[in-house]
Amino acid sequence: MKRENIRNFCIISHIDHGKSTLADRMLEMTKTISDQKMEDQVLDQMDLEKEKGITIKMQPVRMLYNNYTLNLIDTPGHMDFSYEVERALQATEGALLLVSAKEGIQTQTLANLRLAKKQNLKIIPVINKIDLNQAEPEKRAKEVNNLLDNLNIDAKDPLFISAKTGENVDRVLQKIVKTIPEPPEQNHNKLRTLVFDSVYDNYKGVIAFVRVFSGSLKPHEDIKFYHQDLQEENLEVGIFQPNLKKTEKLQEGEIGWVATGIKESSQLRIGETITKPGLEIEPIEGYRKAQPVVFANLFPDQQDDFTGLKKALEKLKLNDPALDPQNISHATMGRGVKLGVLGMLHLEVTLERLKREFNTEVKVTPPSVSYKVKYEEGKKEKTKKCLSPADFPHHGKIKKVEEPIAKVDVISPVDIQSKVHKLVQNSRGNFINSEMLSAKRMNMTFKIPLAEIMTNFQDQLKSISQGFASFSYEIEGYEASDLVKMEILVAGEPKSGLAKIVHKDKAQKVARKELKKLKDLLPQQNFAQKLQAQVKGNIIAREDIPARRKDVTEGLYGGDYSRKKKLLKNQREQKKKMKKEGQVEIPKEVYQKMIGK
Ligand code: GDP
Ligand code: MG
Repeated sequence: MKRENIRNFCIISHIDHGKSTLADRMLEMTKTISDQKMEDQVLDQMDLEKEKGITIKMQPVRMLYNNYTLNLIDTPGHMDFSYEVERALQATEGALLLVSAKEGIQTQTLANLRLAKKQNLKIIPVINKIDLNQAEPEKRAKEVNNLLDNLNIDAKDPLFISAKTGENVDRVLQKIVKTIPEPPEQNHNKLRTLVFDSVYDNYKGVIAFVRVFSGSLKPHEDIKFYHQDLQEENLEVGIFQPNLKKTEKLQEGEIGWVATGIKESSQLRIGETITKPGLEIEPIEGYRKAQPVVFANLFPDQQDDFTGLKKALEKLKLNDPALDPQNISHATMGRGVKLGVLGMLHLEVTLERLKREFNTEVKVTPPSVSYKVKYEEGKKEKTKKCLSPADFPHHGKIKKVEEPIAKVDVISPVDIQSKVHKLVQNSRGNFINSEMLSAKRMNMTFKIPLAEIMTNFQDQLKSISQGFASFSYEIEGYEASDLVKMEILVAGEPKSGLAKIVHKDKAQKVARKELKKLKDLLPQQNFAQKLQAQVKGNIIAREDIPARRKDVTEGLYGGDYSRKKKLLKNQREQKKKMKKEGQVEIPKEVYQKMIGK
C-alpha cells in the first residue's frame, strides 16, 4: 500500500462512550473480521476486559477500506490507563473524539483531547449513542464545539452516529479518509520505527508493536535497538487483524509488529527506536516515563516464589510499561516487590493479570502515596522520600511531612453540587473554581490530597451522583500537612508492618478501628495483653486482650501435688519471661489480614 493511502488514527473518549463498539462496526463494514468471529467489543481481547466491560489495553487493528489502509488503535478511557492513550496517540496522525449523546463531555474527554492536541493530531468529533431515548445530540454538539473552540482546535460540527446500530458509521470512515493526513513523507529510506507497545510470547520472545516512520523491514533482516545498542535478526514481521498476522514486509507509514528474536524481556524499552545496523539515524522521540502515584508492597505467597514474581512482573511490564517494581524485604513477610502504579484500578488489574497470565498469587499491603519528609540529622536538614510508614525517620527528628496534592476535575449535574463540595471537604480538599458546561452540567475544580482520593473518593462520588459524575486528577505538587505516623504496639512493642500514615485529626478514629480489628484477629495468649496505638510517643488508644488461663495441669490426676506445683511454677516463670521480652509474635496470617483490604 502506498504511503498516501494509509490513515493512522485512534479513538479516544471518556470510559463507556462507545469506542470499542464503534471499532466493532468499522471492523464489520470493512469485513476485517468475519461474521462468525464477530462479537461485542471484539477488540477487548483479554478475558478481564470482557468481564469488567472496560478496555484496559490499547489495541491496534488494520482495516482495508476502498483503496485505503486504515490503522485504528482503540484506547482505554479510564484515567488509570491514560499512559496507554498517550503512547497510542504518538503512533497516529488523527483521533476520533467520541462523546456520548447521553452523558456528554466528561473528565477523560477533556484529558484525552488535551493529550491529542499536544501531539498535533487531526481531531474528528463524533457524537455517539444517538439511538438512546435520553440522547440530546444537538446540545452535546454545542458543548463539543465550545470545547474545541476553547482549546483552539480546528474541528467543527460533530458527526451524529450510533455505534450500536451502525447509523452514520460509514460517514465516519469517509471523513477519516478525507481529513486525517497521510503519514508524512520521509525523505530517506532509512528504517526508523517507534516501539509503542510490546508483549512477551513464549515461543517468539519479545514482540514489539511498532509505527514505521521511515524505511521498511522484511522478515529475517537484522534490526538494531538504537538506545540499547543491541542487534538481532528479527524472526517475523506483521500486522494486526487484530490477531498477529505475518506479512512479507512492513513499510513506511504503517503500524505493525516485529518478532524481535529477543528472549530477555528487560532488553526492550517502550519508546525505543528500532532501526537497522550500520545506519546513521536520528532516534524517534520516545515517551516520558510514567509517574507512579500509588505504591503497594507485594509478597509472593510462598517465599521461594520470589524469583517467579520478579520474572512475571518483568514480562508484564513489557505489556504495561507504567509499572514500576522495586525489590524490598520485610521482617515477617520476607522478600517482595514495592510496586508503583497509576491508581487503584491499575493495581487491581495488575494483580489480576499476574494471577491469570502468570499464575502468580501475591499478598498485598494497602497502597500508600509517596511522602516527602523533612528531618534533622545532626545539624543538617534532610529530605527523604517515603513510600511507606516503615521508611519514616524517628518522629523526634521529623520537621515536616509533605504529601502529594492533586488537582481534581469533577464534572457533575448541577443539582448535586453541594454534595460534591461536602465530599471534598471530608476528603481534606479545597475548592478552586467551576464553570458551566451546559445549563445542567458543570465542571468543578478542587485541590485534594492524593491519599484521600485513593481511599474511597471514587465510590462515594459514584454513590452521591448515582453514577452521573466523573472525576479525573493530575498531581500538582507537594504540600505540607499535619500527617503523623501511627504505630501499633503489642505488649509494648511497636510492630513495624502495622504502622500507618494518617492525618492528625483522623488518627484517633483510625487507631480505634485498627486496634479492634487486631484484637479480634490475635489469638489469646496465656497472659493478658495490651494493644496500643501511639503517635509521636503518646498513646492515643488502647485495647486489652484478656488472658486465657491455660490449665497446664490438665492430664495430671491423682494427688501428685509436687508435680502439679512444679508445672504451675514453670508456667509462671515462662509468662514472666515472655512479658519481660515483650515477646508476642504476630502470626503471619494475622499480619496478612491486618494489611489486606
Ligand atoms: P468504551 O469504554 O468507550 O470502549 O465503550 P464500549 O464500546 O465498551 O461501550 C460501552 C457501553 O455502551 C456498552 O454497553 C455498549 O453496548 C454501549 N454503547 C456503545 N455505543 C452505543 C450506541 O451507539 N448506542 C447505545 N444505545 N449503546 C451504545
Ligand atoms: Mg473500550
